[in-house]
Amino acid sequence: MRGRIKVEHKCDEKSLVVLKEDGVLTTYKCLVCGKEFSEIGSIVITADKDLLMCEIYVKWSKDSSVVSQISKLKKLIPDTKKIGNNILLEAAKKRKSLKVAEMFSDEAYELLEKGKMMGVLLQVI
Ligand SMILES: [Zn+2]
Repeated sequence: MRGRIKVEHKCDEKSLVVLKEDGVLTTYKCLVCGKEFSEIGSIVITADKDLLMCEIYVKWSKDSSVVSQISKLKKLIPDTKKIGNNILLEAAKKRKSLKVAEMFSDEAYELLEKGKMMGVLLQVI
């Protein structure tokens, strides 16, 4: 149901308002383009669990050097090159966890596993 609306309709789902509810049939109207949709049940407005946005934090281990952990982190998440060595070094020395990425939960847990294999400690929040 969710997919069908996306194909037919290009506006944000947030612009949909419930026009009328008739038993299991719900009619929505888009405030942006004025289109109307009818859906059975409440499937359309159910949030998709797989699409939760997560924040990824790096944690620092005592078992290997700060420099090697930073270089592994940059290999694992190339975007961390933008953070700057000073900030990374400072956080690593103080063992302060640092936010390094934002992504959907399924990607996040994949990254967590990859990190484990490489010896980079990550935390998904
Ligand atoms: Zn619309």
